[in-house]
Amino acid sequence: MEDLLPVFPDFDSCSLHPQGPFVMAGPCSAESRARTLDAARALAAGGVRVFRAGVWKPRTRPGGFEGIGQPALAWLAEVKTLTGMHVVTEVATPEHVKVVIDAGLDGFWIGARTSANPFAVQEIADAVAALDPARKQSLAVFVKNPVSPDLELWVGALQRIYMAGVRRLAAIHRGFSFYAPTPAPYRNAPYWQIPIELKRRFPALPVIFDPSHTGGRRDLIAPLSRQALDMGFDGLIVEVHCCPDEALSDSAQQLTPQAFFDATGPLRRPAEAPAEATLELLRDEIDAVDADILDLLSRRMAVARRIGELKRTKGLAVVQPARYARLIDERCARAEARGLSPEFVKHFFSAVHEESVRQQMAPEDFS
Ligand code: PEP
Ligand code: MN
Repeated sequence: MEDLLPVFPDFDSCSLHPQGPFVMAGPCSAESRARTLDAARALAAGGVRVFRAGVWKPRTRPGGFEGIGQPALAWLAEVKTLTGMHVVTEVATPEHVKVVIDAGLDGFWIGARTSANPFAVQEIADAVAALDPARKQSLAVFVKNPVSPDLELWVGALQRIYMAGVRRLAAIHRGFSFYAPTPAPYRNAPYWQIPIELKRRFPALPVIFDPSHTGGRRDLIAPLSRQALDMGFDGLIVEVHCCPDEALSDSAQQLTPQAFFDATGPLRRPAEAPAEATLELLRDEIDAVDADILDLLSRRMAVARRIGELKRTKGLAVVQPARYARLIDERCARAEARGLSPEFVKHFFSAVHEESVRQQMAPEDFS
């Protein structure tokens, strides 16, 4: 995926400020003509160049609002004519692709529930491959990460669309489903290392962040967006509704146009990199700290192996759940006092403990 073009010919100008990120905004769903046009007019007036709105809404459980469907495409086409914004919506089937293209929209995104299914993505890719070359060249496609934290599945979905001939391609990071306990305060866990690895592997691929579905809460949009831009994400996709409290889907996370401009207007992309010399010094410091961490871990494992021998001679079980629970509690409390997140420390020490147990059980492999 080396020959990717920006998603729109003027990707860089789709921002609210010359140093601002690429910005795409609009309601979770196009609920009525009036509401769709209200949101679109307010966004266009404030300088937004790319409008999003769902027409088909994949709901986790039946009975929820599943979108207006095809009739809403006419409202999106109207948004394009009235405001001049680029307009995109979500597709999940080849039929959706066909009617979105027929309605003259600029592109589409593939949602998290669809990108998790290679059969569905391939059917969409086949529909795109069959388009005439000029239409394909101008088409913008955004691929959201699959609901599960699986980088290869995400890469696979992007590759299927790329291999269909799409070159205006971008990824959207919207967080991942997780198994309890909830990594508060998010709706979907960010697992930042996954999109960052995607960016490392495909430097030409723009990666856009979706703070609305990651955070699930209005008050998290600004801080999450700031964090993502600091980490080098290329842009933002944000849900904006003219009256969020009345929204038929994702009400808690949608912003009014004014709140959206307040939250994202001041955001800037960070300067390229600090002066090279300073950066090198800081990197040297990190290398040194990491070397210390490795030495300490190796010392800890040596002690664990001695404990393993002792347990064997005394006929004791390797894993002692009460001791393990005490260890985690104590480390979390110490972590908090040092400004570290207890969640991270718990994760870290459970990995350390797992490795300790492995080494205690097979000492001959490590002597
Ligand atoms: C959306 O963007 O409205 C949407 C349904 O997103 P996701 O696929 O990320 O849940
Ligand atoms: Mn939504």
